[in-house]
Amino acid sequence: MRVLSGIQPTGRFHWGNYFGAIRQYLALQGHEQSFYFIADLHALTTIRDAALLRQNTLDAALDLLALGLDPEKATLFRQSDVPEVTELTWLLMTVTQMSLLEKCHAYKDKVARGIPADAGLFTYPVLMAADILAYDSEVVPVGVDQVQHIEVTRDVAQRFNSFYGGEFLKLPTARVLDDSAKVVGTDGEKMSKSYGNTIELFESAKSLKKKINSIKTDSTPVESPKNPETCHLFTLYKLFATTEQQEVLAARYRAGGMGYGEAKNTLYEAAMEHFGAARARRDELALQPDHVQEILQAGAAKARKKAREVLNRCKSACGLAIQE
Ligand code: ATP
Ligand code: MG
Repeated sequence: MRVLSGIQPTGRFHWGNYFGAIRQYLALQGHEQSFYFIADLHALTTIRDAALLRQNTLDAALDLLALGLDPEKATLFRQSDVPEVTELTWLLMTVTQMSLLEKCHAYKDKVARGIPADAGLFTYPVLMAADILAYDSEVVPVGVDQVQHIEVTRDVAQRFNSFYGGEFLKLPTARVLDDSAKVVGTDGEKMSKSYGNTIELFESAKSLKKKINSIKTDSTPVESPKNPETCHLFTLYKLFATTEQQEVLAARYRAGGMGYGEAKNTLYEAAMEHFGAARARRDELALQPDHVQEILQAGAAKARKKAREVLNRCKSACGLAIQE
């Protein structure tokens, strides 16, 4: 199985990124091919500060490695280190219908939130299609927000194949985890780096506590029974807890006498415990930035080799000259 996924260095990674996507990266590494990249080109639609982008990219690599991504089992690289992908993007752009991009939710949602849209944000799904198709990827582990983009990828690949009459591009499938397809943020909306509603994986203990305390709850008095099923706090707790642990907390909700403050504390403890080992590993890795750069460079060399093969296949199909 050939697996590929990307994550943007638009800010520090959060629970949504981990439970929706990164957890899958770790479960799928070691397959015939597992390619994971830091989507720095995509991030340019959000970040226009060189120092910040460099820092975020290093942080992204440190986070992924600390969480357990193993360079022996998976290829980790920076998107911008594989120029073949940007070249493939152009070929795909010429077979992508405007109407297809106009329907994309991620673009529409960002515009609706007042995030200014440029052509980069609008054509983002085409770059993403190239990211996926350049490696003959079969499975793309993502959160549910990206499923539509993978449909776009399939559509674009199909159009390319049908225009040029052959199976030049392989059609990928999204892989989404049911229980964490869309993790909610502190405001109850999709947790997103660009929405300012995240709880970060490597947040300091103090700031983690503050964020958890800011999660919206209703105004049911302490003594009254509460409904765990409609409480964001409980939904988030489920990500960390076993079924038995969930039942214990749910029973306390229903019995009354427990304030949300207590539930927040339970969530805090669970999160500290869950990411404790990764925190320690991250502190160690942060002392070896050169080692991290070497991992990214070795990853890029491997990724480029595959991308060149696919790009040449597509260029030949179009009647363009190829380079070895
Ligand atoms: P941005 O706001 O810059 O788009 P983001 O937080 O949405 O950032 P991305 O880099 O766009 O993060 O997405 C990386 C991966 O994390 C994708 O596979 C995406 O589906 C997944 N993901 C992002 N947010 C969530 C979430 N709230 N729940 C589940 N998965 C998520
Ligand atoms: Mg996103």
